[in-house]
Amino acid sequence: MIVTDLKVGILGGGQLGKMLCIAAAPWHLELFVMDKSADFPAAPYCHHFTEGDFNSEEEVIAFGETLDIITIEIEGVSIKGLHKLKSMGKTVIPDPDFLEIVRDKGRQNAFYRDLGVPTVGFSSFDSLKELEKVIEVGNIRFPFVWKSRFEGYDGRGVKLVKRAEDLKGLPEGPCISEDLVSIEKELALIVSRNSKGEKGLFDPVEMVFDSRANLLDHLQFPAGIPERIAEQMKQIAETIVDKVGFRGLLAIEFFLTTDGQLLVNEMAPRPHNSGHHTIECCATSQYEQLLRTVLDLPPGDTAASRKGIMYNLLGSPGYTGPARLKGVEQLFATEDAHLHWYGKKQTRPFRKMGHILLAGSDMGVLRERMERLREGLRVVV
Ligand code: ADP
Repeated sequence: MIVTDLKVGILGGGQLGKMLCIAAAPWHLELFVMDKSADFPAAPYCHHFTEGDFNSEEEVIAFGETLDIITIEIEGVSIKGLHKLKSMGKTVIPDPDFLEIVRDKGRQNAFYRDLGVPTVGFSSFDSLKELEKVIEVGNIRFPFVWKSRFEGYDGRGVKLVKRAEDLKGLPEGPCISEDLVSIEKELALIVSRNSKGEKGLFDPVEMVFDSRANLLDHLQFPAGIPERIAEQMKQIAETIVDKVGFRGLLAIEFFLTTDGQLLVNEMAPRPHNSGHHTIECCATSQYEQLLRTVLDLPPGDTAASRKGIMYNLLGSPGYTGPARLKGVEQLFATEDAHLHWYGKKQTRPFRKMGHILLAGSDMGVLRERMERLREGLRVVV
């Protein structure tokens, strides 16, 4: 045994799984990964890859029953399968009960409210019809934000509703209505906690969104916010993980409103896009931090070593097919610029194909470098 004799498996073999495998390499930790195809980003970087469907209860059980610890890099896995593995005595991280709360935006918001954590005002509905009835009797004021309770991500499953007609064409299923808040900044923070209650808190990042694609445009580390707000975010994160005895890695997204309120928007109990910069900019990456947590080791040092800007390399509009990255020479000629190419075979418009991390000491310089690089660096076919 070097670090552990326990067998650790990951459901999901996308880019987050790949970066987990890379973080495991210095310890020579053997990871087992399951996803649909051996073409996926993590496959070449893990010791054992299983082709399988993490949505299938049977396949999740078959994958996990030979392992000791099972964790995830994506939320959309079979929860029934995870519950079964837990009942078989396996360590499942995050806990399937917690994952169930996270997967339902209605339950998630109620969870914050019940914990006394500041969040956006909301109402939960079992169907679109139910929401329409409440509108008819005049119990909701326009505008508000409609959100699908299940399976919304990257802005899909979110719609601004200014009048009743805007509901036309929306999915009939369970949904919530949220107060429309006036957002000054969108922020995120990653916290880890092991079974002894030892926590690692990274400094907050600031997310800037592209309104066209409704996707993260870039991320700035550290966030340009007063220390007071950063402290408040950390306190909220600690409250959430301590009150439920959470074990694992949790990314929490916040809104800072134009009137200075800090509200929790949503959370993800797994490695997160908003923590990519931790590889280059922090003493311990979010990926190593999750590995430490699943093995119940003490958290690594989260101290920031330098500033960073992260932006995603998205498939260029108009290109679908085998992916190619144009302008890579300029990237390698740029100081402290780091390429993360996920290795997905096919590009399509706005697909996340990789990311660039620019590190340094001056945020203004980093922003200029990003603008310059962006002009030349394109994902095409
Ligand atoms: P997803 O999980 O799909 O990313 P989010 O809940 O984060 O969905 O919503 C996507 C984006 O929509 C947010 O980043 C934010 O810009 C905007 N948004 C979400 N909820 C609200 C709200 N209640 N008021 C104003 N803007 C919102």
